[in-house]
Amino acid sequence: MGGSRGRERLLSCESCRRQVPRGKAVEFEKRTVFSTDLRTGDNVSEVSTRTVYYCISCAKHRGIFEIKKRQMQRRNERRS
Ligand SMILES: [Zn+2]
Repeated sequence: MGGSRGRERLLSCESCRRQVPRGKAVEFEKRTVFSTDLRTGDNVSEVSTRTVYYCISCAKHRGIFEIKKRQMQRRNERRS
């Protein structure tokens, strides 16, 4: 963690556009998957990720915390 205090950068909530200080914003990785060949099921899909930020109340409202938890679990299960 970076230790620099001081003025926090403001980020705007993806949902309500409110300005939220970085420390209070909930970071969320939005994934979009482009599949180029569904028939073979090969590794041809391209995943593009974009980081968006939500304020706490929007994050709660949209279940972002749950999604993040699930994503972490999936990441752990993939270790095979
Ligand atoms: Zn919001």
